[in-house]
Amino acid sequence: MKVYSAKAMAVRAVELCVELLYERPSVASVTRILREHGETGELGSGKPGRGEHDLGEHGGTGELGLGEPGRGEHGLGEDGGTGELGLGEDDVAAMRAAAARLRDVLGAADAGEAAALLNRILAESARPPRLTSHAGSTTWHLHVDSGDDAPWGEWFLTSSAMALAVLLADHQRVPGGLCASSGCGRPFLDVGGGSPRRYCSTRCATRERVAAHRSRTTR
Ligand SMILES: [Zn+2]
Repeated sequence: MKVYSAKAMAVRAVELCVELLYERPSVASVTRILREHGETGELGSGKPGRGEHDLGEHGGTGELGLGEPGRGEHGLGEDGGTGELGLGEDDVAAMRAAAARLRDVLGAADAGEAAALLNRILAESARPPRLTSHAGSTTWHLHVDSGDDAPWGEWFLTSSAMALAVLLADHQRVPGGLCASSGCGRPFLDVGGGSPRRYCSTRCATRERVAAHRSRTTR
C-alpha cells in the first residue's frame, strides 16, 4: 500500500525538476518518472480534454527535444502525443515553469528565504488542504490543488511546495540545495542529519575532488 510521505513527494519533485530543467523532457519521459513514483493513472484519468493515446514502441513524442534552449511554449506543437497518464505537451511546459520555481526554493540562501518563496507559491496557487483517495483507488493523502482533475502543472507545483514546506518545518533549514559542481547546478534533496550536502551526486563530488587535487599538484 502506497503511503504519500512528504519526503517521498519531495524526492519525486526533485527528480521531475532535474528531468524538466536539465534533460530533454517529453511526455514519455515525464510519464515514466510519474509512473516510477506510483502514479497509476487515477490521478490523470480525470484531467480534462485528453484522449488516451498509446505512445507505442517508437516512443511517441520522446524525440521532440522539449529541453532545447530557446524553445518556448509556443514551439511545443499542438498535435503531439498524449501520455498514458493523460499528460500532454502543454502539461510538460507548465510543469517546466513550476520546476523553475521549485529549483529557486532549493537554491535559497537560508530557511527564511526558502519559506518566503514557498509561501508565495502556496498563496498564489494552493487551495485549502483536501484529503482524497481518488474515489477509493489510492490511500488517503493530502492535495492542495483545486481538484482531483486539476491540470498537471498546478498539481506538480502545489504538491511539491507543500512537501518542501513540511520538510523545511521538520528540519528547520532549506530541505536541499543546488549542486556546487561547476557546470552542474542540479537541485538535490538534503534532509539527512549530517553536514549539508554540496553536490547532487557522487559523480559531481568525485569530479570536484579530482579537479581540486589536480589544481594542488600542478601548482
Ligand atoms: Zn551535480
